[in-house]
Amino acid sequence: MLVDTKIVNAKILTVHGITSCGITIEDGKIHSIGLEASLPNASRSVDINGKVVLPGLIDVHVHLRDLDLSFKEDFHSGTCAAAAGGFTTVLDMPNTKPPTNSLLRLKEKIARAAGKILVNVGFYSDFPKAPEDFNYLKAEGAVAFKIHLLRPTTELNVDDDSVLRSAFKAVGKTKALVSVHAEDRSIITELESKFQASGDTSLAAFLEAHSPEAEVRAIERILRLIKGINVRVHFAHVSTLSGLKLIIQAKQAGLPITCEVTPHHLFLTEEDFLRLKGIALITPPLRTRQNALRLMAALKRGQVDLVVSDHAPHLLEEKMRENVWEISPGIPGLETTLPLLLTQFNCGHISLRRIIEVLSEKPAKVFGFKTKGRLKIGYDADLTIVDLTKKFTIDPSNFHSKAKYSPFNGWKVVGKPVQTWVGGNLVMDDGMITANPGAGRVIGVA
Ligand SMILES: [Zn+2]
Ligand SMILES: [Zn+2]
Repeated sequence: MLVDTKIVNAKILTVHGITSCGITIEDGKIHSIGLEASLPNASRSVDINGKVVLPGLIDVHVHLRDLDLSFKEDFHSGTCAAAAGGFTTVLDMPNTKPPTNSLLRLKEKIARAAGKILVNVGFYSDFPKAPEDFNYLKAEGAVAFKIHLLRPTTELNVDDDSVLRSAFKAVGKTKALVSVHAEDRSIITELESKFQASGDTSLAAFLEAHSPEAEVRAIERILRLIKGINVRVHFAHVSTLSGLKLIIQAKQAGLPITCEVTPHHLFLTEEDFLRLKGIALITPPLRTRQNALRLMAALKRGQVDLVVSDHAPHLLEEKMRENVWEISPGIPGLETTLPLLLTQFNCGHISLRRIIEVLSEKPAKVFGFKTKGRLKIGYDADLTIVDLTKKFTIDPSNFHSKAKYSPFNGWKVVGKPVQTWVGGNLVMDDGMITANPGAGRVIGVA
């Protein structure tokens, strides 16, 4: 038998540690994994010189923008950034312009993305107005639903407990997952108005408005609202240890909930925000050093389910505004997430096993991608090949994203994605994009 592709001189992580092997691919799927001598012949053979193959990485929290926000990022530039960062699947958030909050909007987005994407993309939908639409949106391909408690783009009144509870009941019936941006709107907008009225446009005022309390309150509220409803809730970018503790307790009590953290909340602090200003302005904001260290410790212990980039590109001028209340929150993260985590691995702070779990295995499991997240025969041939010892300096001017800045600018990192394979096609090789737009697929939940 002659298969499509054979990757030779590879290494993979097994229960016995990092082991040499080869991998063959047929029809976009992993056909065999094992000692090279035991593998079938292939039409083409690719020697990866002892590099390590990880199951394709999945980032479940990405803002690819496009539509009316294409000037910030579009489906092509955003998925080039994903491929360059080693991600084979990304899930795109619905707070676009126009927002993805109806069947029509979802269909428009999928049609527009189809010919432009380089990696697999799944789309979130916002909460629709009519409860029956959750079902239709899921059937149309929405991978999950998103609710933004601070800057809602749904037509529902997210401040109304009974409205939100009914919506959670409706989603629960579809078995779909809900991702929540948990920051309490009343706490934040009240303080924002107060500061704005007094002309306080300082970074400190921003931190005070987006207090840890605002996150904790929102998490408490959601946990209270979903009590007794069978709905899977995923907390986006948890930034506070106290918020995380509530989630861990609720999980222990049996609630079907999960959560994610971002590299910026793990590796940056309030001091970085005060130094970098708009470049490090995100919501929820950066917290104290102690908080960041504790989030990292929780990640290491397995108390955090996923790591996501929350890739949220803006124009540089939108990040450089003097008035803190006018700075667009969000930073590009697709091209820094994996190197930052591999650096932690190289420093002995986290195992490679855990990195694979939080960036591939668990995202596939939590979001229900049954043929992704593992290097296994019959699974999709989505592969992230890394040079674990490659040292380099993060230089945003080399980003494939349209956002060419980063709070991690100048950081020395160890560990780099060198090839990204999507469905058996090589889409990124040594930093260069090697596939045409349309190489990626729009995915739904099977
Ligand atoms: Zn958010
Ligand atoms: Zn986000």
